[in-house]
Amino acid sequence: MGLITNKRGVEVLRDRKISKSTSFTKEERQELGLRGLLPYSVGSQQKQINRVMTNIRRKESDIEKYIFLSALQDRNEQLFYKTIMQNFAELLPIIYTPTVGQVCKEFSQIYRNDKGFFLTPEDKGEIRQILDNWPEKEVKVVVITDGQRILGLGDLGANGMGIPIGKLSLYVAGGGIRPEFCMPIMFDVGTNNEAYLDDLLYLGYPHKRMVGEPYFELLDEFIVAIRDKFPDVLIQFEDFLTPNAYEILNKYQNQILCFNDDIQGTAAVALGGVLSASRISGIPFKDSTILFLGAGSAATGIADLMVSALIEEGLSEEEAHRRLWFVDIHGLLVKSRTDLLPHNLPYAHDAAPLNFIEAIKYLLPNILIGASGAGGTFTQEVIELMSEINHRPVIFALSNPTSKSECTAAEVYTYSNGTAIFASGSPFAEFEWQGKTYTTAQGNNVYIFPGIGLACIGMKPSHLPDDIFMVAASALANCIDQSELDAGRVYPNLTKLRFISLEIAKAVSLKLIELGLTKISKPADLHGYLEALMYNPEY
Ligand code: NAD
Repeated sequence: MGLITNKRGVEVLRDRKISKSTSFTKEERQELGLRGLLPYSVGSQQKQINRVMTNIRRKESDIEKYIFLSALQDRNEQLFYKTIMQNFAELLPIIYTPTVGQVCKEFSQIYRNDKGFFLTPEDKGEIRQILDNWPEKEVKVVVITDGQRILGLGDLGANGMGIPIGKLSLYVAGGGIRPEFCMPIMFDVGTNNEAYLDDLLYLGYPHKRMVGEPYFELLDEFIVAIRDKFPDVLIQFEDFLTPNAYEILNKYQNQILCFNDDIQGTAAVALGGVLSASRISGIPFKDSTILFLGAGSAATGIADLMVSALIEEGLSEEEAHRRLWFVDIHGLLVKSRTDLLPHNLPYAHDAAPLNFIEAIKYLLPNILIGASGAGGTFTQEVIELMSEINHRPVIFALSNPTSKSECTAAEVYTYSNGTAIFASGSPFAEFEWQGKTYTTAQGNNVYIFPGIGLACIGMKPSHLPDDIFMVAASALANCIDQSELDAGRVYPNLTKLRFISLEIAKAVSLKLIELGLTKISKPADLHGYLEALMYNPEY
């Protein structure tokens, strides 16, 4: 029967890791003391998945679907993951963006069952000890946020816990990381969100945010403690405020096994999409002029990785920088501006201070990338201008959630007369226009991080230099097939996500070996080695 447990009766049914509910066979029911505790009919896992999907489709709101799925995760983990894997395109928008944004906003209202790990300033000096309360013996991937910049929604404090929980579900479903290896962490140092501080139901540390030295000291204590408890752990930093995100990444990137998903994960997925787009447009990546709307962590992370990729293609660092331009809330990044942040400085060019439209007319970009968190900023005028300049304008509207997207699929295809090569950060339904169906490719970081996680579990590297994200981006671009490119899609179908993750994990592992960052020697069959590590929730 294949199920090894000392548990009997309801204890089996209440253990989310082993429960198969109505799929327990007659023999298993006899052996595990389950007779009488389940209805007569023994159903296959597929039958259960069908039942789950029927129930989900009956729910009227996405948040109700999320709550239903979250409860399933608590009852029957294998069924939860198998259902997601089989219905990825339909359920990704429920377990992650855009629904997770609403979930975070309402976290204190819909809170039902404890998931994840919460740290607050009151834990100072005791974090290592408190980590022993975590029930799992081995943790290999941590996703941690302090909730200060959740998606494009701002400071959601402890309510941001929906993000690490959601991301780790995607590590499992998309990369085959075992659920028990995953630990979502809320670094709850308070919130400056007045509405939450006034909300009696708010569940987080009810104080203004801890800032400065005490904040970084507490984070450092956590890093030391988690690495003491789980030495090979990969730490993914998620949704930190941009200046903090950079400070944390710069401090730890070359010291420990970590990365920042908003900066490096986004960069890899965007670069992968741009590499595919250049195969469609026919304009080589190294000859492209790229204009970003938004100059925060996401946009700058993308640009920094593009600089490395352009240098790899033979450009000098200066030439690479000249290909990349930014407009932020105050206009074009130019040298005369005095309000720029350190990460903006390499991209401040010698030019007049122009607004967005003027910048497009001046630069004639062939690629436009939105990571501004400002919905509707790719107006009809912007899209029409890009289409006048380019035969196939490349337009990526990466901001999340959907309300913050720089434009919609309908807008981009209509105003570009169907010529745009479009990718979005949020999901859009298929768009029918003038007898043609346009399927929007979603530039979702889920294409990248599960594969990185799998490689880290397999290779136990010391750290992840930027080269790793470049390799991941080109492995992603290599996963797209010609029929997808012909349809104008810059990302492969998400139904292939496990295959994509494995391909990325292989490419990343080889690079880690080449760079001498792992003590694990190259397995004779790397594919087989990594594939064998992948969790398969089938029974
Ligand atoms: P951020 O707050 O660090 O940066 C936002 C930037 O946009 C700032 O430079 C700001 O000046 C600029 N901006 C704001 N309003 C603007 C306007 N009206 N016009 C021009 N510029 C404007 O945020 P971030 O971390 O860089 O994230 C930005 C967005 O990217 C968010 O919506 C986030 O959800 C999204 N994002 C998407 C992905 C993805 O699709 N893969 C990944 C990460 C982040």
